[in-house]
Amino acid sequence: MELYKKSAAELSEMLRKKECSAFEIAESVFSRIEKVENKVNSYLTLCKEEALEKAKLVDKAFSDGKELHPLAGIPIGIKDNISTKGIKTTCASKMLENYVPPFNATVVEKINSADMVITGKLNMDEFAMGSSTENSYFKLTKNPHDLERVPGGSSGGSAAAVAAGEAIVSLGSDTGGSIRQPSAFCGVVGLKPTYGSVSRYGLVAFASSLDQIGPIGRTVKDVALLQSLICGRDKMDATSREIGAPDFAKELKSNLSGLKIGMPKEYFGDGIDSAVKQSVMNAIKEMEKAGATIKEINLPSTPYALNSYYILSSAEASSNLARFDGVKYGYRTPEYENLIDMYEKTRSEGFGDEVKRRIMLGTFVLSSGYYDAYYKKAKLLQKKISEEFSLAFENVDIIATPTVPSTAFKIGENIGDPIKMYTADICTVTINIAGLPAISVPCGFENNLPVGMQLIGNKFEEQTLLNAAFGYEQLVGGFKCLPEIV
Ligand code: GLN
Repeated sequence: MELYKKSAAELSEMLRKKECSAFEIAESVFSRIEKVENKVNSYLTLCKEEALEKAKLVDKAFSDGKELHPLAGIPIGIKDNISTKGIKTTCASKMLENYVPPFNATVVEKINSADMVITGKLNMDEFAMGSSTENSYFKLTKNPHDLERVPGGSSGGSAAAVAAGEAIVSLGSDTGGSIRQPSAFCGVVGLKPTYGSVSRYGLVAFASSLDQIGPIGRTVKDVALLQSLICGRDKMDATSREIGAPDFAKELKSNLSGLKIGMPKEYFGDGIDSAVKQSVMNAIKEMEKAGATIKEINLPSTPYALNSYYILSSAEASSNLARFDGVKYGYRTPEYENLIDMYEKTRSEGFGDEVKRRIMLGTFVLSSGYYDAYYKKAKLLQKKISEEFSLAFENVDIIATPTVPSTAFKIGENIGDPIKMYTADICTVTINIAGLPAISVPCGFENNLPVGMQLIGNKFEEQTLLNAAFGYEQLVGGFKCLPEIV
């Protein structure tokens, strides 16, 4: 039985019916990893021994008749910017090459207390900056649907591992699209939760006011199960919010009738590949046939969103990354003359080009004389973008757009042109700017490459969003998420 092909929800049921053991599930996933990892390169660290040990403990608990969490025994991979006690957490940077955190992120504590089985740590763009995972200091992750193409980024390893069957579910982080964009490129489901619904404690900060951790899976139900586990107030993160204990998976409803879907014309204009546009429009039409109503809406500030995102996120990054100075964490240059020289060499050698570009840009927009011209304007735009979404949600339940303007591009195609790379985020950054939840679901293939549809919800309305995604998934009879890897 190829257990790695099953969803978390199916495996959970099989475990309870004693049709398989947690050990067999873990073995199946690790034998899949052995088979395809040398082609896909999703992982930076594998935790095989610990995972098999944990799986044995789960089986023991089941045979002792203990009540376990629905996700107990399910293999999960974790993006390498989420702190794992005793397991290297590198952020795919030379700066943190040998960093082993002395504590767990809150989401990891939750995963452990639900008895999930951690398979390892997943590749990413350095410090989550990028849209292709090509900015990793360590390795190049490939798209499981076409090994000559990128998996997207920055959570490229998290999406590729799930698509390749090297994990059942995974965690990514999303500052401007890093869960949704790679999910779209790899043909899996990825949720960026409302800002404040998941604790950021232990997530290595990129842009604290935009960052959120979120789940990736092959089905909407799996994403719902994982979101229920990780969400909620945490006293270690003052921006996290009390939201009770929602059981998103249990409450899933596939009925689309009466759902009001907004279609913003700004997301279907120039710059969006016509095949992608067509796929997403077909998906929306399917939903309409199933009883949803479609409304054209306007989000007029959208064309300015990318600029304001790169100003805001780089400003915060330049401040957050100041802590990597060769004193407190990670890499320190071996030879230096004095303290200033040590700082300079450590940061020049420890960070990659993209990270340095963001630090310079962020420092510039925050510097006196330029603060008003750039940072302040970006902040004003942030307010405007949020207001436009609030207004839109007075008339619609969800908003549908493409997740990315294109399908997965070739490795090397955009890496030399940062501006071109940044346009991969054109449909996703507004959601982080406004703090909203959004999910990417597969909505077809173009030239054998997955296309993603983004559904956007109002704040803390994850259930509405998941229901819409689930409704669409049921309508198309499930997603074809596991490609042949050749
Ligand atoms: N690609 C975007 C960037 O490079 C988004 C990154 C993210 O969401 N972490 O900033």
